[in-house]
Amino acid sequence: MRIIVQKFGGTSVASGERRNLVADKVICAIEQGYSPVVVVSAMGRKGDPYATDSLLSLINGKDCSVDKREADLLMSCGEIISAVVMAEAFAERGYKARVLTGGNAGIITDDNFGNANVVSVEAEKVLKVLEQGLIPIVTGFQGMTEEGDFTTLGRGGSDVTGALLGKALNAEYVEIYTDVDGIMTADPNIVPNAKIIDRIDYREVFELAYQGAKVIHPRAVEYALEDNIPLIVKNTFSDAPGTVITNLVEYKDDLFTGVTSMTNKAMVIVKDENIFKLMAERKISTDIISESQDQKVFIVDSDAAAEVEDILKQLCAEYRIINNCSKVFLIGNKTSGIQEVMSKLIRTLEVNNVNVLQIANSNTAICCLIEEADNKKALNELHKAFFNAS
Ligand code: ADP
Ligand code: MG
Repeated sequence: MRIIVQKFGGTSVASGERRNLVADKVICAIEQGYSPVVVVSAMGRKGDPYATDSLLSLINGKDCSVDKREADLLMSCGEIISAVVMAEAFAERGYKARVLTGGNAGIITDDNFGNANVVSVEAEKVLKVLEQGLIPIVTGFQGMTEEGDFTTLGRGGSDVTGALLGKALNAEYVEIYTDVDGIMTADPNIVPNAKIIDRIDYREVFELAYQGAKVIHPRAVEYALEDNIPLIVKNTFSDAPGTVITNLVEYKDDLFTGVTSMTNKAMVIVKDENIFKLMAERKISTDIISESQDQKVFIVDSDAAAEVEDILKQLCAEYRIINNCSKVFLIGNKTSGIQEVMSKLIRTLEVNNVNVLQIANSNTAICCLIEEADNKKALNELHKAFFNAS
């Protein structure tokens, strides 16, 4: 059997017309002699009736009072609805499908509800369905504990389901279908001149995804890398060849991969020594810490800023918090140690009147903290400067 996994994101399954395009892609693979395993996300995006956020809003979203176990049960419904509706689209075309929940598909997790860790995947469950000549449609984003409770794998987790199944079934490749032509040098919704990347190494795309490019979940890239399963990011709505993610031996020759950003950040400037210990106790994560003799500067998610302020008040610390910040990244292989790169980046932001609040770099990325209002301008100007496109 030539097994492939085809994962379809929320926008790909959002309407009857779109689900027909999904069925076309799957049937085309069958006609080419493949045995596809289909993975689906919940239908649509925020605001659509059966999207994950809409279901969550029924119980006040993040502020809900029920346990995370119950919230996971509710969120799991989105993919179940989507999978059954997709099965109907196949049935109308004369193809019989079998819907499998995460548990049915053998995806066993721990009980860290909301962001469960996968313990094992029993490939036999899906294999049995393929052997019966049925199309397995697996609900993405979902697993099950040993006790039989539904769990979810964290937002964007359907990509993880796709990669996990690809690995467990030793698939020839995993296709991630979405609403753009592949992985690009920037988010095309923010930088209209972003360019498609035809081939990319696992490590480069991991860095892009980890630093904010929502097009693929970084954990999916890690799982695929473990067994060298190629990932192909494609558009459900076009015939573009997409982006092939593999192990590229020569990948280190490319200097830059792309620009990304993460909004909703706050910068904290404080003199007190005890702040990190207290933040750790409350599980508030922080990054880009810089310390000088008399002050510490660090970044937290905007959601956590009020809690950090509470701690600072308790400590009677002298502090300043700058809200509405964003992190912009230039991702690439040689972003450290090449002085021209850093100075070009700073100059680009400077001449465009983007105020840089903090700067940090690693081997694979340069990160600048800026005011969120400048996010779009900064991404477009950096893209123009480093990717030679306006
Ligand atoms: P899906 O519902 O199919 O999983 P997502 O919204 O998770 O779709 O991912 C697709 C979106 O990722 C695109 O619409 C695009 O706006 C965004 N995106 C962010 N960064 C990039 C990038 N570097 N390349 C392509 N798309 C990107
Ligand atoms: Mg996604």
